[in-house]
Amino acid sequence: MDYLVVGAGFAGSVCAQQLAAAGRKVLVIDKREHIAGNAFDRLDEHGVLVHEYGPHIFHTNSSSVFEYLSQFTEWRSYEHRVLAAISGKTFPIPINRTTINSVYGLNLDEKGVAEYLERVREPRAEIRTSEDVVLSSVGSDLCEKFFRGYTKKQWNLDLSELSAGVAARIPTRTNDDDRYFTDRYQAMPLHGYTKMFERMLDHSNIEVRTGVCYSEVHGMVDRRTTIYTGALDEYFGCCFGRLPYRSLRFEHQHFRELERFQEVGTVNYPSEHELFTRITEFKHLTGQVHSGTSIVKEYPCSDGDPYYPVPNPKNELLYKRYEALAQREQDVYFIGRLAQYRYYNMDQVVGAAIVLIRDILRQADSRATVQ
Ligand code: FAD
Ligand code: UDP
Repeated sequence: MDYLVVGAGFAGSVCAQQLAAAGRKVLVIDKREHIAGNAFDRLDEHGVLVHEYGPHIFHTNSSSVFEYLSQFTEWRSYEHRVLAAISGKTFPIPINRTTINSVYGLNLDEKGVAEYLERVREPRAEIRTSEDVVLSSVGSDLCEKFFRGYTKKQWNLDLSELSAGVAARIPTRTNDDDRYFTDRYQAMPLHGYTKMFERMLDHSNIEVRTGVCYSEVHGMVDRRTTIYTGALDEYFGCCFGRLPYRSLRFEHQHFRELERFQEVGTVNYPSEHELFTRITEFKHLTGQVHSGTSIVKEYPCSDGDPYYPVPNPKNELLYKRYEALAQREQDVYFIGRLAQYRYYNMDQVVGAAIVLIRDILRQADSRATVQ
C-alpha cells in the first residue's frame, strides 16, 4: 500500500483517483457505510433519489474542475432557485428586484432598486462580520427579515459573531435574476453523486473499505503516506479542546401521489418560529418523474456529525493551533472541509485535492530523481 486515504468524500475520492491514475496503490477507508461523503445520494424506499445529508447542487466557474468530474458522469443542467417564506408569503432569495418590490409593495425598476438600497443600507467603515456584510448591503429591515433569524438557527450565533465570508455567500441583486448561483457551470450528475463516485473509485489500484474508522486501523496499515479528510481536532485527540463544527439533523419525508410539494428546489424559513432552516424537494434538482415526492427538512444542532466549520476569529485561532501540529506531522496530508476547517463548496474541494496530489507526486518524483 502506498497511500491510505481517510474519507471517501470529494476530498478523499479525488485524491485516491488521481493517485491511482499515477500508478499508486491506494486504500480508501470511510467510517460511514458508504462512499461519497456528504454528497451521498440514494433511492429512498419509495424510489425517489434523495440526498441523505441535505441538498447538494453542483456549481463552479472552474472549467478544469467541471471537465475533471465530467470523466465520471454526464450532467443534467440545473439552475437552483430558492424562496424565503416569511409570514406565509414567499420571496426570492438572494434579494433581488422582485424581492424588494413584493416585500414593500413597490414597483421599482433596476435603477430604483439600486437607489432604494443606497438609501437603506448602513455602510460600515470596515467589513469584518456577517452583520457588517448584510447591514452594509441591504440595511436593518431586510437583515431582520431574511438573515438574522436564519443565521441564529443555522449557527446558534448572531450575525455579528460570524466572519464576513458566511453571509457574503449570498449576493444582493438589483435585477430580476432569481438564481441562487451565477456560476458558469451549474449542473447535477445525471445519475446522481454516488454513481459518479463509484466511477471515480473504480480502479484496479484502489481498494475501498467502508464502515472502517481511522482510529481502528491507525498504526496497523502499512503505508507510506496518509491523506486525512476527517475532522482535524479528532485526529489530534482534541488536545486543544474541540474545534466547533455545526451539525444538522435531516428529516426526510415522502408524500404519495403528490407531484409537487413546493414551487422551487428549496424554500428557506428565516424566522425562528420554525426550528428548521430550509425544505428541499429533490425532484426539482434531479428532474426525476415520479407520482410522489420526497423532501428534506434541515434542523441545525450542535451535537452529531460535523458538517460545517464555524467561521469566526476565535475558531480560526484554534484551527491555527491544530494546523501547526498538522504541518509537523510526517507523511500525513490534511485536506477537505473538515480537515482544513474551511467552508468549502464541492468544486473547491475538488480543485484543492487535484492541486494537493499534483504537489505530492511532484515532490515524490523529485525525491526519486535525487536518489
Ligand atoms: P465530506 O464529504 O464530509 O467527507 C469526509 C468523509 O470522511 C466522510 O464521509 C466521513 O465519514 C469520513 N471520515 C471522517 N472521519 C473519519 C475517520 N476518522 N475515519 C474514517 N472516515 C472518516 N457544496 C456545494 O458545492 N453545493 C451545495 O449545494 C452544497 N450543499 C451542502 C449542503 C449541506 C447540508 C452540507 C453539509 C454541505 C453542502 N455542501 C455543498 C458542501 C459539500 O458537502 C462539501 O464541500 C464536500 O462534501 C466536502 O467534501 P469532503 O471530502 O471535504 O468532506
Ligand atoms: N443566510 C440567511 N438567510 C438565507 C440564506 C442564507 O441568513 O435565506 C445566511 C446564513 O447565515 C447561512 C449563510 O447565509 O448560513 C450561507 O447560506 P448558504 O445558503 O450558502 O448556506 P449552505 O447552503 O452552505 O448551508
